[in-house]
Amino acid sequence: MPVLYWFRHDLRMHDNPALAHALQAAQATGQPLHTLWVPDQAWLQPTRWGFARCSQGRWAWWHSAARALQTQLATQGIALHITPGHPAQVVQQYCAQHGIQQVFCEAIAAPYEQAEVTALQRAGLTIQAIWQSSLLDPPDLPFEASKLPQVFTRFRELIEKNNIHPPQPIAPFTPAPALQSATSTEPAGEQAAQSHVLQYFASDAPWRYKLTRNGLMGADFSSRWSPWLATGALSARWVYAQLKAAEAAKGANDSTYWLWFELLWRDYFRFLHLQHGRQLYAHNGLSTLPYPTHNQLAFDRWTQGRTLHPFVNAGMRELAATGWLSNRMRQVVASYLVHDLQCDWRAGAAWFESQLIDYDPYSNQGNWLYIAGRGTDPRQGRRFNPDLQAQQYDASGAYQQHWLA
Ligand code: FAD
Repeated sequence: MPVLYWFRHDLRMHDNPALAHALQAAQATGQPLHTLWVPDQAWLQPTRWGFARCSQGRWAWWHSAARALQTQLATQGIALHITPGHPAQVVQQYCAQHGIQQVFCEAIAAPYEQAEVTALQRAGLTIQAIWQSSLLDPPDLPFEASKLPQVFTRFRELIEKNNIHPPQPIAPFTPAPALQSATSTEPAGEQAAQSHVLQYFASDAPWRYKLTRNGLMGADFSSRWSPWLATGALSARWVYAQLKAAEAAKGANDSTYWLWFELLWRDYFRFLHLQHGRQLYAHNGLSTLPYPTHNQLAFDRWTQGRTLHPFVNAGMRELAATGWLSNRMRQVVASYLVHDLQCDWRAGAAWFESQLIDYDPYSNQGNWLYIAGRGTDPRQGRRFNPDLQAQQYDASGAYQQHWLA
C-alpha cells in the first residue's frame, strides 16, 4: 500500500526525520511517496474574538514556503500536492482516493493540531506522528517530560550541567544527478532560510547579539530566524549546527551563547506543552488566578494602535504593517494589554496569532502565559512600565516617530 507524508509545521527537506521515515516506508512498499500540504481554511475564519486567525501576510508566507518545498521535492521526483481545506478532511479524502492507510507527519503538541491527528485516527488511518521540532530530543532530557522544572533557569541549568546537546541534523537526501540543479527563488523557502542563516554567521552580528537583542529598529539586531522556524522551512537543529560551526571557526562569546539561551526558551515552551497540553489554553493557565477581566473597547484600540500610550501604539502599528515585532516590543505591548488595560490575555494571544508572520503556537502561548503570570513564571506575571521602557529603549524617540508619523 502507498504511504503519505503530510507536511505540517515542517515545510522542508533538510533535517526532517519524519519525512525520512516516510520515505523509508514508501521504499519498502516499492511505491512512490505521496506528499500533501493542506492550507488550513479554518485559519481564515473569524475566532471568538472577531478576527481571522491568520493575516493575509502569514497566509502568503506559508504558501511561498510550500511552493519552494514543491520545487525542491520535484528535484527528487516527488510531487507535493497542495490542497486547501480542513486538514483532517483533506488528508482523509486523499487517502481514500489513493488507497493509503499509513500517514507520516510531524507531531505537534498543541491542542488544535492534536485534534487533527485524533480525527484521522478515529477515521481508521494509521498515523505515525514523529516529534522533531525541538532542539533537544525529549528522550535525551535529564528528567521525564512530565517533570519539566517549572522555572526556565532550573531547566537550562539541568540541561547545561548534564551536558545535553541537540542531535546532529540528519543528512539531506542525495539529489538525483539529473535533477539536482533545480533551485527555488521563493523567499520563504528552505534555501532562502539557510542562506539567511549562513549570511548571519558570516557577519559579526552573532558576536554582538547580546548587546543588540533589545533593539527595536534595523535589520540585524536579532537573528530574524523566527519566520522560517515557524513554517519549519528551517530546522532548529540545523541552525544550532551552524552556530557551533561558527563558534569553532571564529570563537564563542557571551553573545553566541545567548543565541543558544534563546533557542532553549523556544524548547522550554515546547516541553511545557508536552507536560501540560490543553491546560495552557485555559483562562487561568497553570495559575489559580481568577477569570481575566476584558474591555472590548480598550482591546480594539490596542489592536489599532490607538491607546493612550504612544510607545505601545508604535509597536502595534509596526505589528500591523509588517507582521513582525522585536522581542522587546512584544513584551511591552503584551504587558500593557494585560496589566494596564486589564484585558484578557487570550485575546492578546489571538491577535498575535492573527498578525505575526512568525506565529508559533508554543512560543506565542508560552510567552503570553508568562507575561500574564499564568504560566510557570515564579514572579506572578511581568509588568513592563511603558514609560520606562520607552526611555530606555527609544530614548531618541526615533522608533515612535517612525511608526506614528
Ligand atoms: P532572536 O532574538 O534572534 O532569537 C533567536 C531565536 O530564539 C528566535 O528565532 C526564537 O526561535 C528563539 N527565541 C527568542 N526569544 C524567544 C522567546 N522569548 N520565546 C521563545 N523563543 C524565543 N516567537 C515566535 O517564534 N513565534 C511567536 O508566535 C512568538 N510570540 C511571542 C509573543 C510574546 C508576547 C512574546 C513576548 C514573545 C513571542 N515570541 C514568539 C518570542 C520572540 O519574541 C521571538 O521569537 C523573536 O522576537 C523572534 O525574532 P528573532 O528570530 O530575531 O529572535
